[in-house]
Amino acid sequence: MIYIFGKELFLIRKYQKIDSTYTALSQRVKEQYDTSRRRNYFPKVKLSRNSYDDYTLNYTRQNDSDSFHLRENATILMLVRNSELEGALDSMRSLEDRFNNKYHYDWTFLNDVPFDQDFIEATTSMASGKTQYALIPPEDWNRPQWINDTLFEERLRVMEDEGVLYGGSKSYRNMCRFNSGFFFRQSILDNYDYYFRVEPNVKYYCDFPYDPFRVMRLKGKKYGFVISLYEYEETIPTLWDAVEEYLVASEETILRKEDSAYAFLTDSGLVGKHYPVVEANSDYNLCHFWSNFEIGDLNFFRSDEYKHFFETLDAKGGFYYERWGDAPVHSIGVSLLLRPDEIIHFDELGYFHSPFGTCPASYAVRLDQRCRCKSDDESVIDITPHSCLMRWWKNGSGKYFLKEEQDEI
Ligand code: GDP
Ligand code: MN
Repeated sequence: MIYIFGKELFLIRKYQKIDSTYTALSQRVKEQYDTSRRRNYFPKVKLSRNSYDDYTLNYTRQNDSDSFHLRENATILMLVRNSELEGALDSMRSLEDRFNNKYHYDWTFLNDVPFDQDFIEATTSMASGKTQYALIPPEDWNRPQWINDTLFEERLRVMEDEGVLYGGSKSYRNMCRFNSGFFFRQSILDNYDYYFRVEPNVKYYCDFPYDPFRVMRLKGKKYGFVISLYEYEETIPTLWDAVEEYLVASEETILRKEDSAYAFLTDSGLVGKHYPVVEANSDYNLCHFWSNFEIGDLNFFRSDEYKHFFETLDAKGGFYYERWGDAPVHSIGVSLLLRPDEIIHFDELGYFHSPFGTCPASYAVRLDQRCRCKSDDESVIDITPHSCLMRWWKNGSGKYFLKEEQDEI
């Protein structure tokens, strides 16, 4: 009896000691990060570690926790099917929590068939901002008449047999062509300057330390990404041939290769420890920005230059006879038509779309932004051999290394 009591007492003491250590630890974290965790203001966080430029925005925030009045002319944009409602709600919940609940940006939903009532009701109640829904006109979605049906069916069969991802899917091809050349022409977007593409079933791992739309406008950025990787070459065997024809024909009217991000697309030398994971059959190294996350300037996509670029490629039929994705098409378009400093890598925005994610490498940033990710998780692609991010640092707009200034947070 006495023995049992003595053991109990010993355990109680032991746990009390552990408890007090924990309390001290949590107190320390709270002191260190509380001001930013509570976010009465936006701390001075670098816009991106992807530049040597020291300029930071002055993010003095009003004391109220709502920044509705500071909004940009922008919308969150989701192309989605009715059947993906659950996944759409998961993505919305995550983005609202991490970013939009303070801004209430509009959500715009696009679909090739009418949205059903359940979808509209559930997404509207999940959004903190206005919601709007549009039906894509058939001529912006469907396969054009001039595509040769026999050849198309034949190519679908071959790509399906070869095991190409979505190789046998007709609707996937419509989707890729729509996202490449038509999303920005939808009249529901006419009055906006910026869009933030969101897909169902994605996650935002961290609080946004700034409004990315505001960063885009104030810093003159036109395209923003978080993940970059290599494309499956079997989906785009002749895309680069088409790009080369376009380059020859447009040489006089577009940026010189030295002034654009052309080298990001074509350098296949050693970067860091790695050569490209796939040896490409053309001069294109297959690097592209993963377009399921993108924040872009609609006026860039609406420009004659981008439209001409898209139309030149479209005329080749590769969206159907092959399976050209909107990711390489956007990436090649922005890399050829923009200066590298007009493209931004949002280094601080943790994100996951199966099977890859990105997570801030800095421990302090992860705590400060309440991240729910491990930067060394195997899904985190950032500096793995199959990521093109290091190529962007080399051939795009550089890499910013975290500076002391962040310690002030
Ligand atoms: P993945 O990310 O390449 O595997 O392709 P997804 O299936 O995620 O499709 C990309 C985006 O297009 C997602 O936002 C989908 O919801 C959307 N999407 C794909 N196919 C269709 C379709 O046939 N109709 C509609 N309305 N949306 C589609
Ligand atoms: Mn997807």
